[in-house]
Amino acid sequence: MATILDTLTAARKIVIKLGSGTLAKSDGTLNTDLIESIACQCCALINKGKSIVIVSSGAQVSGVSLLHEWARKRDEHFRQALCAIGQVALVSAWEKAFSKNSRHVGQLLLVKADFENNLASLNIRNTLFTLVDEGVIPVINENDSVSFEEDSMGDNDNLSALVAVLWSADALILLSDIAGVYTSNPKVDPEAKLIESVSNIETLEKSITMGGKSNFGTGGIASKIKAAKLTTSYNIPLIVANGTQDCVIKGLFDGTVKGTLFE
Ligand code: ADP
Repeated sequence: MATILDTLTAARKIVIKLGSGTLAKSDGTLNTDLIESIACQCCALINKGKSIVIVSSGAQVSGVSLLHEWARKRDEHFRQALCAIGQVALVSAWEKAFSKNSRHVGQLLLVKADFENNLASLNIRNTLFTLVDEGVIPVINENDSVSFEEDSMGDNDNLSALVAVLWSADALILLSDIAGVYTSNPKVDPEAKLIESVSNIETLEKSITMGGKSNFGTGGIASKIKAAKLTTSYNIPLIVANGTQDCVIKGLFDGTVKGTLFE
């Protein structure tokens, strides 16, 4: 049975996705300290020869940080407009964080149709390869202002899995607000136990209880399991870990932080 440490030691190309629940502070505003810490840990890996692509949620959280009075607006047009505003601040936060480590970022905003169109997929792939080859960190998000609710990718777990497949990544790390997949929702069940390794997803689905998501989350644990089905079918292992834990990326790569590994 492989471990997270073995998997990440062997992996060269890694996609790291941060969920909204991870990027939001308890007051609902963007956690820029966390972004700075993640950028710093990613740069340490890049300096050791790893290649990193970031998939970052948080456009809406970031928009609310700027326009508090829009937080309660539920109308879809306002939500999409809020994401348009928030995305600028979100990617600026990533740009600022990586520039402290003398690295540039490149932004890609994608929609579902981009992955269904051969030419668009090829262009995305080529852009990713070029950015990474040049030492630039791609920062990807769904283009919420273009996607309609019915036609959106739903959550960035799915987007990051599609990116991992398109870029032929060696591993995908989903950073959430919990340490991984548990036997039941750890937020409501104190007896819930962390499952550290999954080799059969169908068996896992039959043996756990899924329910609920974080305050700012979208997909819940079910969407992480669905993403794992996709990546593992391409032999890309997927790891779920707690992005709010101190130095989580460093800890995953040196074996001191636990998570769930889908192999
Ligand atoms: P993110 O914003 O990181 O994508 P989500 O809020 O969408 O995260 O999903 C993570 C949430 O899923 C956790 O905060 C947890 O409350 C909930 N959850 C429900 N069932 C489980 C389970 N069996 N194991 C782990 N988390 C679970």
